[in-house]
Amino acid sequence: MAKKTLQCLKRLRDLMKDVKYVSEPLSAYIITSDDAHQSEYLAECDKRRQFVSGFTGSAGTAVVTEHEACLWTDGRYYLQATEEMSDEWKLMKEGMPSTPSQGSWLARTLQPGARVGADPCLVSYTTWKTLQDELAAAGLSLVPVAPNLVDVLWEGRLSPPAGSVQPLAIKYTGKTSKKKVEEVRKKMKEKGAALLVVTALDEVAWLLNVRGSDIEFNPVFFSYVVVTNSQVHLFVDESKISLAVRNHFNEEDLPVSIHPYDKVSSFLSEQVNQLSGQGGKVWISSDSSYALARLFPDSLRILEITPIAVMKARKNPVEVQGMVNCHVRDAAALCCYFAWLERQLKEGQVVTEISGADRLEEFRKQQEDFMGLSFDTISSVGPNGAIIHYHCTPATDRPITTRELYLCDSGGQYRDGTTDVTRTLHFGTPTDYERECFTRVFKGQRLLGTAIYPNKIKGNCLDTLARKFLWDVGLDYLHGTGHGVGAYLNVHEGPMGISWRMYPNDPGLQEGMFLSNEPGFYEDGKFGIRLENVMYVVPAQTRYTFKDRGFLTFKTVTLVPIQTKLIDKDLLTAEEVAYLNSYHRECREVVGEKLKAAGQQEAWEWLHRETEPI
Ligand code: ZN
Ligand code: ZN
Repeated sequence: MAKKTLQCLKRLRDLMKDVKYVSEPLSAYIITSDDAHQSEYLAECDKRRQFVSGFTGSAGTAVVTEHEACLWTDGRYYLQATEEMSDEWKLMKEGMPSTPSQGSWLARTLQPGARVGADPCLVSYTTWKTLQDELAAAGLSLVPVAPNLVDVLWEGRLSPPAGSVQPLAIKYTGKTSKKKVEEVRKKMKEKGAALLVVTALDEVAWLLNVRGSDIEFNPVFFSYVVVTNSQVHLFVDESKISLAVRNHFNEEDLPVSIHPYDKVSSFLSEQVNQLSGQGGKVWISSDSSYALARLFPDSLRILEITPIAVMKARKNPVEVQGMVNCHVRDAAALCCYFAWLERQLKEGQVVTEISGADRLEEFRKQQEDFMGLSFDTISSVGPNGAIIHYHCTPATDRPITTRELYLCDSGGQYRDGTTDVTRTLHFGTPTDYERECFTRVFKGQRLLGTAIYPNKIKGNCLDTLARKFLWDVGLDYLHGTGHGVGAYLNVHEGPMGISWRMYPNDPGLQEGMFLSNEPGFYEDGKFGIRLENVMYVVPAQTRYTFKDRGFLTFKTVTLVPIQTKLIDKDLLTAEEVAYLNSYHRECREVVGEKLKAAGQQEAWEWLHRETEPI
């Protein structure tokens, strides 16, 4: 059912001309899917683009002019956006060659001299600059507008979340916040930075060794941190900072000055005046909001990803062990689920995508240190599996049967780490074509997972390995192959990744980084296949070391059986067979022990059978 948005659009168009809010009338207003921290997942109060357009997908930008309302989104969401938006809205299919960018569409639609408004807190510096240049070329100007016009008209908008903040003990973090800050200051010194502005919520949480609960699936809290040579300033709603958190800062010997959340801009403006006299620079990521980055003149500003981004991505030995451990417990939960599911189907019980996902969550909840899901479970049957970012709803819910492939992509947050795993299973007899596709996906996952490569090579150089066996026969998949994974933080973590696309801030693969390895294949209207493991970067033993660069490889931490029923052994080499058998031996030994200790006989038997050598 499409949302009725006529009144909302009328009100927005009035506000665009209202001198109470804008100095001169706006010819267009842009509503992004950002929050003030450019987070991937949003709190309810930040779902402005969804409120205005009715479109609930995660990616998309709305542009409203006097006579038109357009929404740009990518191929994952064409169908959903068409269904969710009313006739007032026009879908602009991003990624289609015939679709203009927002900038060129505005240039074509508006008269020279027209003003385009947007909230500078909700657009990253890089995005703002690119659009500003594009508009300027057509004689249009991009103007920052405050307050946010959607907030003005949004009746019943929720207040920002007030989730609690919890300390994370040293046995999980492996390094005190004091030590982390010292290392950050060292990097600042090397760059000549007197001030580091931290706007990404996972970077704040990682630096201070605390976790929050403001955003579903991501254990972060709304805040900013400013690090100087001698101080750490935290901008946060003070009611979130309990005595336990203050004691934790004391224990870690980190003096933190706490300021109100909304004082960050005025604080930074004051700092600019002081710095101008001293010659120090400000380090702020170009992924930060335009509102904050523009506070500093070019001459004072270092616009690069923060040193925290790379430090956080390279897990220390304690974090590595935590990730390894939580993946074993997570695998145990998945074995329990798949064993249970198989029995339900055998007994003729009805299990649907949604009830299955709920059951899986129950099994995860039984695991030690479980804190919640790391994202909304993708539990999809048959044709729904071909929708890459499928979200099951009561309207689309399908029963899991013995006739169709079942794709399950899920993950958990644990105090010691974050998981993300996909398995595709068939509970009846798969077709030869399904088996061929599955086998090719497996071969690619193995080739990437066992690759040896030079230190700091960029992730996109490895992407082809995962696709090779699909490409061999003219098949492919339309998503990246691997993303970084946080340690009890965001399941999608930068700055590196493995994709045919270049990651603009990819520092190259380095020891201790965790990434997913998730090739797939999707036959529209029929089925989806994906196999996803999490792995981390370790040194490789090579016979030679070219120019002492050092060589690296991966170690896989996900230990859930790959369904051998779906493997066509004739397509495998002897090495691939040996790899699969040894992977399954590890699953059986490590996860089997866990299941035995927990008295999970049914799951143990399932695991034993699923890990029989081929
Ligand atoms: Zn996943
Ligand atoms: Zn993933």
